Amino acid sequence: MAQPEVLIVGGGNAGISLAARLLRDGFSGVTVVAPQPLHRYKPLLNYVGGGEATMADLERPMADVVPDGCTWIRDAVAAVDPDASTVRTRLGRTLRYSTLVLCPGLEEDWTATPGLQEAYADGWAASTYVPGSTPQVWPRLRSLRRGSVVFTVPPEPASCGPTALKPLFLACDHWRRAGVLADLEVRLLLPEATPTGLPQADDVLERALADYGVEVLRQSRIERVDADLHSLTVGSSTGARVLDDVAFAHAVPHYRAPSWIAGSGLADPATGLVDTDTETLRSRRHGSIWAIGDAAGVTPRPSGGALRKQVAVLSANLRAARDGGALQRYDGYTVVPITVGRHTLTLTEVDRDGRPSPSVPFVDPTKPRRATWWFDRYALPQVYWRRILRGRV
Ligand SMILES: Cc1cc2nc3c(=O)[nH]c(=O)nc-3n(C[C@H](O)[C@H](O)[C@H](O)COP(=O)(O)OP(=O)(O)OC[C@H]3O[C@@H](n4cnc5c(N)ncnc54)[C@H](O)[C@@H]3O)c2cc1C
Repeated sequence: MAQPEVLIVGGGNAGISLAARLLRDGFSGVTVVAPQPLHRYKPLLNYVGGGEATMADLERPMADVVPDGCTWIRDAVAAVDPDASTVRTRLGRTLRYSTLVLCPGLEEDWTATPGLQEAYADGWAASTYVPGSTPQVWPRLRSLRRGSVVFTVPPEPASCGPTALKPLFLACDHWRRAGVLADLEVRLLLPEATPTGLPQADDVLERALADYGVEVLRQSRIERVDADLHSLTVGSSTGARVLDDVAFAHAVPHYRAPSWIAGSGLADPATGLVDTDTETLRSRRHGSIWAIGDAAGVTPRPSGGALRKQVAVLSANLRAARDGGALQRYDGYTVVPITVGRHTLTLTEVDRDGRPSPSVPFVDPTKPRRATWWFDRYALPQVYWRRILRGRV
């Protein structure tokens, strides 16, 4: 195979939208290495978990989303050798690159929560974050009439972690309408003191949590899970507490960057994420390596929405690095969209420092609205398939 002009690792939101954008911007040899046969629009997983979408709404064959003119190598990267400008794959290929972009996303860290993987296998735990279990979430939530149910928000690094609140609010709204909310003990474990750390979003979310009567356990993480006993051990700054007789646990696993990033000497030792300049998106150690997306550590709250800006900046910067010119700077823009009722959504858009960065001026997007919900559930998926994945945003 001829040496690609740009070799992209990962065929998720970042990898595919970047490949399409580069081809539009005049790059010729663009190759994506990605193992999975399916591409998923992950934000809809939360709507599957709330009974508002199906898996078929969010899955497409990978072959349908790889842009024309892009080479897809169905394999997984196992190591990068930055000195030799090569990557080694799981199937034993050695691929050369002149420019490498890392966007393999995050992976579940099942070891962080002993017993959780067994609880998923048992069906007592499931979540929108683990696609194999997502179809079980809504049938389990919908059928609950009494007893105790636990939801968690995963600690960082996570993929748009606060959106794990979406199934909680969708379920609470359903239980209220069904007249059973008062008979359920709904608990939420937050890794930090507040749901998002963003005052404008937290105001809305705290009010909604109080309104539904959700007990919030702050700065708390699941330390251990026992699927046989239906119990969770929760650790927090004030000590450990056992929650038992839990009917269902929407317990999201913890996440981490793939270990081969650190194994290749490319990780920030503090986080394990690719050690990337947060503004230029270039590796701090190797000029020919760049990174975007959940594995890049370039914004405090990674999201698909953040990629709309990252892809544009990175495409411009790869051109500047090739042809000469100044590098553009990514301001850390990200989004936090959370349903607070069955058909209402609060949207927070901020920069790296948490300053508001609204896409639509003069409208407060944090105010829960039907229009914002409709955009998130119905319009954005179409924009994703038709424009974002085709490099048009
Ligand atoms: C349940 C859920 C709900 C979300 N909701 C929202 C939302 O409402 N709004 C929003 O903006 N964002 C949301 N997000 C976040 C958004 O989906 C992610 O930020 C986005 O998908 C990140 O893109 P990525 O390409 O970095 O990672 P991914 O989309 O995870 O893609 C990474 C790809 O790399 C591949 N890969 C992994 N390892 C290797 C390897 N070794 N070699 C080659 N390829 C590899 C993987 O198979 C995967 O396809 C949500 C995420 C989840 C999980």
